[in-house]
Amino acid sequence: MLAVDTIELNRLTQSLNKDYGALPSLELLDIMINNIFKDKIALVSSFGTEAALLLSLVSKVNKNTPVVFLDTGMHFPETLEYRDSLIERLGLTDVRSVKPEPASVQAIDPENNLWKSDTDKCCYIRKVLPLAEALSGFDAWINGRKRIHGGLRSELPTLENDGKHIKVNAIADWDREMIDAHWEKENLPEHPLVQWGYTSVGCKPELCTQKAAPGEGGRSGRWANMGKTECGIHSLGKTETDTSGGGI
Ligand code: SF4
Repeated sequence: MLAVDTIELNRLTQSLNKDYGALPSLELLDIMINNIFKDKIALVSSFGTEAALLLSLVSKVNKNTPVVFLDTGMHFPETLEYRDSLIERLGLTDVRSVKPEPASVQAIDPENNLWKSDTDKCCYIRKVLPLAEALSGFDAWINGRKRIHGGLRSELPTLENDGKHIKVNAIADWDREMIDAHWEKENLPEHPLVQWGYTSVGCKPELCTQKAAPGEGGRSGRWANMGKTECGIHSLGKTETDTSGGGI
């Protein structure tokens, strides 16, 4: 966590955007990981349908970059298998599967069915709190949100902050064509659920992840018809310069 006040953090964010915000993703990641935030930056990955893209870029820059995976205990088994296969394929050496605090889960959701009545609270104990703890030793974190996801993500800056850390939106400007071209060039494997019509994969309960509706794609199957589009990990510590409100 950066030991600066909000004003300093906002100044730093603006300065980083000015100096590095227009760099190609690989150059940006190289500078952030191996120079500016050396040993103080982590990648947060869902190991979902598009995650291999950013994981592959980071692996080219530094395979020892810490990668945080929020293991909610509610994932599809296919996601866990995909996570393990990508770790091996990309040679990542420091993937941290972070679980929610057992006492919190026992106290608040002993039956593991909170998602049925309060998805925000379920995400809070299974994602938001564990991520805050996992990032406590870092000054910055990288995530894979893109402007093409739409909604609150459509105006994403390259660098922002969450009040405590710099957030590096390293592939914010990637469009479908760029993603597909990189995927093909690197021969990246698909998440196993893509073949069944899932375009975005989170936790297994049907309220949380469904196949994309016909004619739709992207994140349309996430918390479908619930008015919820994000899990909340990007809302904690939100500041005036953080306009994203997005998710991983
Ligand atoms: S996505 Fe669903 S199951 Fe996962 S933490 Fe959020 S509400 Fe709970």
